Amino acid sequence: MAKIKTVFEDCDILVVGGGMGGTGAAYEARYWGRDLKIVVAEKANIDRSGAVAQGLYAINCYMGMQWDENQPEDHVRYARNDLMGLVREDLAYDMARHVDSSVHKFEEWGLPMMRDPKTGRYQREGKWQIMIHGESYKPIVAEAARKSADKIYNRIMITHLLMDESKPNRVGGAVGFNVRTGDFHVFRAKAVIVGAGGASHIFKPRSIGEGMGRTWYAPWSSASAYALPIMAGAKMTQRENRIVLCRFKDGYGPVGAYFLHLKTYTQNAYGDQYEANWYEHTKAMVGDYIDHLPTPTCLRNHAFIEEVKAGRGPIHMVTKEAFQDPHLETVGWENFLGMTVSQAVVWASQDIDPKYTNPELTTSEPYVMGSHATCSGAWASGPEDLSPDEYYWGYNRMMTVDGLFGAGDALGGTAHAFSSGSFTEGRLAAKAAVKYIRDYKNDNIKISDKQYEDLKQTIFQPLDNYQIGRNEITGGTVSPSYILPLHGLQRLEKIMDEYAGGISVNYMTNEPLLQRGLELLATLQEDLNHIGAEDLHQLQRAWELKHRTIASESVVHHTLFRKETRWPGYYYRGDHMKLDDDNWHCLTLSHRDPESGEWTMEKAPVYHIVD
Ligand SMILES: Cc1cc2nc3c(=O)[nH]c(=O)nc-3n(C[C@H](O)[C@H](O)[C@H](O)COP(=O)(O)OP(=O)(O)OC[C@H]3O[C@@H](n4cnc5c(N)ncnc54)[C@H](O)[C@@H]3O)c2cc1C
Repeated sequence: MAKIKTVFEDCDILVVGGGMGGTGAAYEARYWGRDLKIVVAEKANIDRSGAVAQGLYAINCYMGMQWDENQPEDHVRYARNDLMGLVREDLAYDMARHVDSSVHKFEEWGLPMMRDPKTGRYQREGKWQIMIHGESYKPIVAEAARKSADKIYNRIMITHLLMDESKPNRVGGAVGFNVRTGDFHVFRAKAVIVGAGGASHIFKPRSIGEGMGRTWYAPWSSASAYALPIMAGAKMTQRENRIVLCRFKDGYGPVGAYFLHLKTYTQNAYGDQYEANWYEHTKAMVGDYIDHLPTPTCLRNHAFIEEVKAGRGPIHMVTKEAFQDPHLETVGWENFLGMTVSQAVVWASQDIDPKYTNPELTTSEPYVMGSHATCSGAWASGPEDLSPDEYYWGYNRMMTVDGLFGAGDALGGTAHAFSSGSFTEGRLAAKAAVKYIRDYKNDNIKISDKQYEDLKQTIFQPLDNYQIGRNEITGGTVSPSYILPLHGLQRLEKIMDEYAGGISVNYMTNEPLLQRGLELLATLQEDLNHIGAEDLHQLQRAWELKHRTIASESVVHHTLFRKETRWPGYYYRGDHMKLDDDNWHCLTLSHRDPESGEWTMEKAPVYHIVD
């Protein structure tokens, strides 16, 4: 341990994760905090990191207020409807009223936007989506962050937050390690903004073995955005609200442009459009929600899942008609080239030309995240002018730990933010973080040597475990003294899949299964104290797994707490198969005691601030 170098950085604002939320935070922090020291710590390289690494073909959240296309109220209604009534309307409204200005900045910075040749407006893909040539979306926003921050640290995986020892429940920075050099990094900061993305690979994916890196949400989204605040004692919300996607089979290629722009549709193996056949069945479960327009995403999934269970799969996307139009055919292919090239490769390898063959769709394994169509994440304060008392404690987007802010996937309650909304949330969080620092300008953060030295020992322990334990191996890779990150990951995915409602059980779970899942997660946690890392790459994998496991615990606790099936198509509580608005028209909150590891759950009211 002595030979590991320690690098110190003292700053005002530390941004953890340089994705969409993090780049927005760095940009805005500089605007309000000209004199402040702003530092970003990014696990990969900010130019191509996060869920937008590969590019996007559409910005999914743009109001178009300049042309009176939509207003923020409309977006709140839309997100609320899609989430079966449960969102943080204050956060959603706040994001929506600012998101257009972020998109205008993207264009100013060089992002090529498609325009409607007739109106000159941005080309709409759907009511909320606008189409872009977005292969370079991420480098463009990264450049804005690079020009704004004092320093960007690439290749630093943040593993823990530091806590201020002069004041209870206040953050004081973060620690992590450089995944290339192995240096230990200590960041002391007055405010920390977490924008570390969502969580893939907590449920067993459909792609396994050598293909397991092919998931819908980015495989490097390793739940740090949840584990870091949870370990620091921050409250979480709506963790049960996982997302299941209907996507093209095997490549997880996006379907939005196909449904919305190409006007393709689905049918079962026998050519029937099946969705309407499940109307009565779904109505019996969720009541009037099935009559809402647009039909909530989970309910469309539900019809898909039931149709396949009834033996009439596979479900196909009818592309043969649209692809006869050369323009639509081009759009269909370009849609993948801008963000999921691998879907085109999969089709080529499977002899599928969508002009002549209707490709198969599938429902994905569940993911946990707060910026796409679901709203799982940290419980944060809303803005002063909009939020009811229970939702407001001084600083917009601040979690329940003082000085700890979040953006994008990290935050709960704000569904349908997507890339532009996450960037906007980063901006809102940074503005509030600057105010927080100014308000407490006389306070100094106290971090003892012991606090970070203990963490240093913990962080690098897996390297020692491996070095020592490998001597006991007589053949193969299995040691009696440690488990490897891949073994641990597969064990986690199996537990979550079988006990918490993954693909192999058709998204079904119940109280006994969840209780057993918690027991198995507890033994996994014990074994993770003995995880072995062969090198720095595996050390990163070890910490990603630890973050995923804590995040998974929170998902199971929330799923257990909510005794209803609120989102059929995302998951089912077999012991409570109906939506129950009388008892569960509420948000769920959890808190993990950082000392004891004990979880407590509570309900929080849903305030409908928009009609
Ligand atoms: C397949 C796919 C398709 C999508 N399609 C669209 C679309 O068409 N339109 C749209 O608008 N949005 C789309 N989105 C959504 C959009 O990408 C996300 O909403 C957005 O990127 C979330 O922003 P974020 O900052 O929370 O996370 P990210 O952008 O993922 O950024 C997280 C960052 O944190 C870093 N990080 C993670 N852990 C650590 C750690 N421990 N230490 C340091 N750094 C860390 C990561 O490397 C990454 O840079 C899509 C997402 C995916 C995956």
